[in-house]
Amino acid sequence: QPARARKPDWIRVKAPVSKGYQETRKLMRDLGLNTVCEEAACPNIGECWTKKHATVMILGDVCTRACAFCNVKTGMPRKVDPLEPEHVATAAAEMGLEHIVITSVDRDDLPDGGAGQFVKVIEALRRTTPTTTIEILTPDFRGKMRPAVEAIMAAGPDVYNHNLETVPRLYPTIRPGARYYASLRLLEETKAHNPLIFTKSGIMLGLGEQRLEVHQVMDDMRSAGVDFITMGQYLQPTPKHVKVEEFVTPQAFSAYGAIARAKGFLQVASSPLTRSSYHAGKDFEEMRAA
Ligand code: SF4
Ligand code: SF4
Repeated sequence: QPARARKPDWIRVKAPVSKGYQETRKLMRDLGLNTVCEEAACPNIGECWTKKHATVMILGDVCTRACAFCNVKTGMPRKVDPLEPEHVATAAAEMGLEHIVITSVDRDDLPDGGAGQFVKVIEALRRTTPTTTIEILTPDFRGKMRPAVEAIMAAGPDVYNHNLETVPRLYPTIRPGARYYASLRLLEETKAHNPLIFTKSGIMLGLGEQRLEVHQVMDDMRSAGVDFITMGQYLQPTPKHVKVEEFVTPQAFSAYGAIARAKGFLQVASSPLTRSSYHAGKDFEEMRAA
């Protein structure tokens, strides 16, 4: 690999070997659940699973899209599992989760884009573990956004997250199936629907974006009323995926974080290993306590 693709020292990842990791892995297998932690080859899996924090990926492990940065399989997804909502709730109860992050593959093949399954998962969690706070990270529900947002907001998650992923100029190569302004509109509609539910979004850095473009994305998010922002380094999951253009330094991440706070985000996570769901529970509790 060329020198620029070599990972710098600040991207250090511990091998996942702890007892907590093994237990989380077994629980997910036993319940037939997928996690984005594994599917996205997340570098934080050792740390998160040791602390029993995981992001469950509902609606299967096959996506109808093929984003250039993403490790999830592409193809024709399987049928929706009617037992999945109960299994997610069981996992949350067994792990004693105070906060759970639920995401999904993109299901352009389903008439509701998968929104109904999000609703069922939220309802199952509220029944089984009523004190667990729920963060959902949804696809853009292309062409069915309004009814999807309405249904999910009515179910009442605590945090609604939808990632913009990158700056608009890079969409055609990085996120070809999506439209920047459609994603922004989803965030705006979510907030307009119920201003009491926190909204959250994030981008990956290191894909060739310029500093001022990142500032613009922050402004766009703020104008859509987004409350929380996450920024982390893009890492190439396999050689077939889009290359890392730059390893953004921890100092540059801190500088972006300071700018985000100045722009009024209520919660800012910006570091090389920040992921959408990294420390999500802890950060959310701290923010609520403040
Ligand atoms: Fe899973 Fe998120 Fe932690 Fe990564 S940061 S291991 S995706 S919970
Ligand atoms: Fe991956 Fe989401 Fe893109 Fe599907 S829509 S390929 S899960 S990033």
